[in-house]
Parts: sequence; C-alpha cells; structure tokens
Amino acid sequence: MVRAVVGANWGDEGKGKITDALGKESDIIVRFQGGANAGHTIVNDYGKFALHTLPSGVFYDHTTSIIGNGVALNIPVLFQEIRGIVDRGVPAPRILVSDRAQIVMSYHILFDKLEEERLAGKSFGSTKSGIAPFYSDKYAKIGFQVSELFMEESGLKEKIERVILQKNVILEHLYHAPALQAEEIYKELMEYRRMVEPYVCDVSAYLWNAVQDGKNILLEGQLGTLKDPDHGIYPMVTSSSTLAAYGAIGAGIPPYEIQQVITVCKAYSSAVGAGAFVSEIFGAEADELRDRGGDGGEYGATTGRPRRMGWFDCVASKYGCRLQGTTDVAFTVLDVLGYLDEIPVCTGYEIDGKVTTKFPVTRLLEKAKPVYEVLPGWKCDIRGIRNYDELPENCRKYVEFIEEQIGFPITMVSNGPGRDDIIFRKR
Ligand code: GDP
Repeated sequence: MVRAVVGANWGDEGKGKITDALGKESDIIVRFQGGANAGHTIVNDYGKFALHTLPSGVFYDHTTSIIGNGVALNIPVLFQEIRGIVDRGVPAPRILVSDRAQIVMSYHILFDKLEEERLAGKSFGSTKSGIAPFYSDKYAKIGFQVSELFMEESGLKEKIERVILQKNVILEHLYHAPALQAEEIYKELMEYRRMVEPYVCDVSAYLWNAVQDGKNILLEGQLGTLKDPDHGIYPMVTSSSTLAAYGAIGAGIPPYEIQQVITVCKAYSSAVGAGAFVSEIFGAEADELRDRGGDGGEYGATTGRPRRMGWFDCVASKYGCRLQGTTDVAFTVLDVLGYLDEIPVCTGYEIDGKVTTKFPVTRLLEKAKPVYEVLPGWKCDIRGIRNYDELPENCRKYVEFIEEQIGFPITMVSNGPGRDDIIFRKR
C-alpha cells in the first residue's frame, strides 16, 4: 500500500513528526520533491534532529529511505546529514538515490544568492539553497542527472561547456560576478560521483517491485499546498509541486497506487517567506504563540528565521486538503493552544465587501480580510492523553469545529512532538 504524508498549508505543519510516527509500519519512505530548502524536525529516542534531505524514516532500522527523482539533490548536504545522525548513535540508514534525480550544483546556490541580492527588498524570501535555479535548469534541460555522473568524460565535459556558456553570460552581465570554470565543475561532479555511487538505484523499478510485493510505502512531502507552483500563492511558492499527486511522478510509481493521502494541518498557522497570509497575527500575541509553538518555538529548521504566525485558517486548509486529495487529516501541535482563554478561527475571507469560504487566486487573496469565529479555550495541558474521549470538551469541540469547516476527517491528533504523542481517532 502506498500512502502520502503532505501539508495543507505553507509547510511546517509537522509532517516530519507524522511520517516518523507512521514510519513504524512502513517498509520504504520516499522523498519525492523539494530540496534542502526546508526541514523537518523530529524528536525520538535518539534526540532532536533537523532533517533537510533525508526522509524522516532514517531513524528506524527496518525502513529503506529513498531520494526520488523529483528531489533537488544536494549531495554534500545529504552526506552531512547521514554523518550527522550516525555520529549521534543512529544506526547507518539504508538509503537509495534515484539515478534520475538531478543534482543541485554549487552554481545553483550561487545564482540563488546573487538573485536575492539583486532583488533586495522585492525578493521572494528564498532560503538560498539553489532550489529555484535548480528547477529552472531541470526544465530548461540543462540540469545534471545522477546517471550523467557516469557518462564518458568527453561527453560530460562537452555538456559542462555548453551549460556554463549561458551561465557565464548572466554572471558577467547581470551580476558582474566571476565566470564559472569548466574544470572546476567537472571536479565537483566527480566528487559527487564518488559520494553518491554506493546509493544509486533505478528507484521506479525498485518501487514497482515493492508495490507488487505488498510493501508499505510512505511518500513524504515537503512544504504544503499553498506553496505549490500551480495551486499555491504564486509567485510566492516553491519550485516543485507539493501535492500528493506529484508523489507518483517524483517517486516513479503508478498514480492509482496512492491509496491514502494524509494531509497535515497544524492547529494554528505559521508561514515563512513573503506572500499573503490572511489570518496572520502580530505583536505580543504573535510573539507568544511563536515562542510556545512547535517544539521550542516556531523558528525555521533550516534558517532559524522566526516564522510568521496566525490563527487556524479554515478557508486555506479546506482548499489545501481538497487539492491534496485528502483521505485523512492529521491535526498537529494542538497541545500548544492550551494557554489561551479564547481561540479565534478564521472561517471566511472578506474580499471587496463579500464574505467567501473559497480560496481565491493571489490577486484577490491579497485583498482578503479574515472573518473570525472565536471558540473557548481548554486551559490545560493535554500532552500524554492517548484517547480522544479523554481530551477536554472544549478541545474536542475545537477539533470537531475545524473538521466540520474543512470537510475532511481528522483521524489523527498530535498532542506533543514525540513519536508516541498521537491520538488515532476512528472515522
Ligand atoms: P514539517 O516541516 O511539516 O515536518 O514541520 P516542522 O518540523 O518544521 O515543524 C513542526 C514542529 O512542531 C517541529 O518542531 C516538531 O517537533 C513540532 N511538533 C510536531 N507535532 C507536534 C505536536 O503535536 N506538538 C508539539 N508541541 N510540537 C509538535
């Protein structure tokens, strides 16, 4: 059976924690999109870890972790991460890297930085990990696929010359930066070849066989629906699709095999980077939620940037769940809200004087004002509770109100950062 764990919103919903919790019953965990630009934070018996490239299944010794063809593969980051976890006592994970994954080159990171500097205040809030230049090159057909590391030297050198010809024109004339040298790029690729060689695999064939053998496969998404380049808040989006449907492409499995789509929604909102965020809150109210949020505050796992904070947004989440093809909602970080007397929930957007519950295109989203309904808080610590019925009444009412608003079943409630802090709810 194939399942996907994806985000409904702007990312940072707690997907890593849900993947880690479901990893127990998975044989294979696959990253299918994105790169090292966002991170998952996972707390387990080995400690607290921030992963950017490795799938969240690496902490189990029974799982195989796969980097699918849809990922922006930063090979040095992958190796640092493997070393980082092994050095902290985690058994060496079983990792496979798709021979069709493409490689984040050092010049992608360079171009990302140069472009952010050029745009200055008008930037998209890139994490400068090279992701946008990487995907641009992939679709312009000038990227390097892992399989190409094993090409004949002359063919690879010819391709490098062809690629850097374009890059150097832009470096010289747009950014006034030094040119790339073909020999350096060749050396970089050979170093990557040495590092990645033991892991390279025909992943789609491997997964096809795994599906035939009835293995449990988990597809792990990065970011969330609202960062999808087609269905998100374009242009403040990421460069690869964040939707479960893309899991079929980015892993190389038949689309009809994805039988369960677990969409993760956080009990309040947070976002990083620029872009419309209708239920955003500010000042002391936001600072308190940020400091209490997640596990040790809502600060970026990769960048340490403070996240923008807001109340739960039913309009965005309903849309986010619909586009994912949600079968189950995992509702996370509910424990954090235990300090509030009252909890506002955004149930509609007012746009040009009219209230709607439909999530609009960016042009209209920028004009939207939140319409709130205020629910009573439960004013206690709910960590450690394992049965849904034991949650305080107002807490259950909060969950059920949101379930009703978004129209998808909340079958998992996460009430703490640990692997076992999860309540499974019957439909
Ligand atoms: P992801 O990118 O979607 O995996 O999300 P992040 O890892 O950026 O953010 C989730 C943060 O919330 C992490 O620090 C998690 O350890 C933490 N977290 C996840 N679920 C819960 C929960 O139910 N309660 C609390 N308090 N923290 C949680």
